[in-house]
Amino acid sequence: MSAKRKIEVALAGNPNSGKTSIFNALTRAKQSVGNWPGVTVERKEGRFVFEGHETKVVDLPGTYALDAYTLDERVARDYLTCEKPDAVVAVVDASNLERNLYLVAQLLELGAPVIIALNMMDVARSRGLEIDIDRLEKVLGVKVVPTVASKGVGIERLQQVVHDIHRDAPPPGLPISYGDDIEGGLAQLTEAVRAAWPDRTEGARWWALKLLEGDSDALALLAGDGAENALREVLDKVRTGLEKHIGADVETAVVERRYGFLNGVVRECTRRLPGVAGRLATSENIDWVVTSRWFGIPVFLLLMWGTFQLVFTAGAPLADIVDTFFGWLGGATGSVLSAARAPDWLVSLLTEGLIGGVGSVLVFVPNIVILFLVISLLEESGYMARAAFVMDRFMHLLGLHGKSFIPMIIGFGCNVPAIMATRTLESRKDRMLTVLVNPLMSCSARLPVYILFTGVFFTRQRGLVVFTLYLLGIVLAVLVARLFKRVFFKQEVAPLIMELPPYHLPTFRSVLTHMWERAWLFVRKAGTVIALASVLIWLLASLPWGVEYASESSIIGRLGGLVAPILKPAGFGYWWAAVSLAAGVVAKELVVATLGAIHGGVAGGLNQVLSRSFTPLSAYGFMVMSLVYIPCVASVAAIWRETNWRWTALAVGHTIVLGWLLAVLIYQVGGLLT
Ligand code: GDP
Ligand code: MG
Repeated sequence: MSAKRKIEVALAGNPNSGKTSIFNALTRAKQSVGNWPGVTVERKEGRFVFEGHETKVVDLPGTYALDAYTLDERVARDYLTCEKPDAVVAVVDASNLERNLYLVAQLLELGAPVIIALNMMDVARSRGLEIDIDRLEKVLGVKVVPTVASKGVGIERLQQVVHDIHRDAPPPGLPISYGDDIEGGLAQLTEAVRAAWPDRTEGARWWALKLLEGDSDALALLAGDGAENALREVLDKVRTGLEKHIGADVETAVVERRYGFLNGVVRECTRRLPGVAGRLATSENIDWVVTSRWFGIPVFLLLMWGTFQLVFTAGAPLADIVDTFFGWLGGATGSVLSAARAPDWLVSLLTEGLIGGVGSVLVFVPNIVILFLVISLLEESGYMARAAFVMDRFMHLLGLHGKSFIPMIIGFGCNVPAIMATRTLESRKDRMLTVLVNPLMSCSARLPVYILFTGVFFTRQRGLVVFTLYLLGIVLAVLVARLFKRVFFKQEVAPLIMELPPYHLPTFRSVLTHMWERAWLFVRKAGTVIALASVLIWLLASLPWGVEYASESSIIGRLGGLVAPILKPAGFGYWWAAVSLAAGVVAKELVVATLGAIHGGVAGGLNQVLSRSFTPLSAYGFMVMSLVYIPCVASVAAIWRETNWRWTALAVGHTIVLGWLLAVLIYQVGGLLT
């Protein structure tokens, strides 16, 4: 190798790792800016001279991985594989080692000659993190130069190491072992790659790995040429074999094991100084439990279960007070109006229609406020981010990105903002699937239905029964997402890399603000949409003129009578059940409001009618039906806005069918068992 030859090095690193700072410190003013060929991604180049030798520095786009998933990743990867720089300086944020090393691992697997600039050493130190540089060099088999780019610390040493690159033996590549099972498949596949793509023998393992991970570029290469049928066959065989063996997506397993390896590296090479930045250390200790493989999901479920217990135990006495109030209000209004000789219909409109309808929904405000209080607490404290993290593995099983879990959680409050929140998802597939299954998340409007029915039929097990309904929603979402993914999307997911903010004590003020905003939305809806709809239902229940209020011969009774037979197999083939479900399409609270308006007032009367008409089994079926069948109008509109009419039709159609089927199944199968 000629000593005079100009060396070319590339800078790679996660966004915000300090790449630009390193670039500037290395090259000072000798820079030029252009674009990467064919795309509008900025390409910066610069030069520095060390001991009389000039070195060209190319700044790659900041990326978390090299999966050809985003444009930036593709630009970086194409450059590395085609232009083969003499060295790649991987800028690593020392204070966030594990996540940053993911890219390094991929660079090494690609066979790139890596030098690590271990940046942000000052931040790491201030957080009490001590990194054993020698050991890190040994474990990864590369040179590691600690730097503080913003202060120019370590830059000269970095120039020296880059300059010396040719004197050192080429790096051996990173020996990540993916475990016997995957390694076996990988070896087979590597052989097949060598045979099918003779020009890629050098990076055969890399390409085999990419094929296994379902990398779109690698698959495109495979699709491009008919002569590679043999390779495709091996790939399919290896993938199905592994999937059966592992019981999960191969790509998820690969990503997990890569992280597992890096986790080990970090544990091996770092030490946390005691006493420094105690809060962060506490955060990590909590995280160790809360996001761990075994405890993560149980902790999440336990928290959810606890939430519903609280919603009921603390909510019940308050709900009773509101209930008593509306009972009194209805009675008082009635007697005042009668005393004033108001016409009967007016008395009926105000007491039975308006107060009955709106009151039956507002009774649940205490429970809902408590639910929102807990959700706000979990969000503000930083736990929700963990929940998304924990669920990532699980979401990958559904073929969804971990980030999809956040709209799902928002869906517990209301599906409309949740559906809008899917905009943050990068791939169209994730967006569509998340939108489509979101209405299966039990929004707060379903809670009144649950509370009403569990109050009559499951008094002692209320919390538990409602918990199962929420869980059922999640499980159904999972199954539906999986099914739709199979049918409509076959492409793959990107690995999730999520930052976990440290925990902090939520402030009283922000928790209350969040809770209040949501609760107010609920109350306002009761005052507007639900009041109007209650009046409309009253009207339909009172006409034609002279008919007995809310009887089978009223308009509403006859309409309901048409639908009722369809509900018969589910055990609630009553005209008023049909009417309440139909009204629930406008807003799910209306299921309860309608029952309240038809069966006169809030507690007593309605509860008696329900306990006469339902069995616990059909009551459960009714709740499941309320959960699943057709999203409310506002959600349908939101789905339409985010997708198109076909997806919207699918969202409406599949939920109606699914809801009905489940209700029937519960009643029929349950009937056989009991
Ligand atoms: P890039 O996104 O990777 O290009 O990162 P930048 O070079 O823009 O750096 C992001 C931020 O981190 C900037 O505010 C820098 O001043 C700061 N920064 C860069 N290197 C260091 C460092 O070693 N220590 C500290 N404390 N800050 C740094
Ligand atoms: Mg930058």
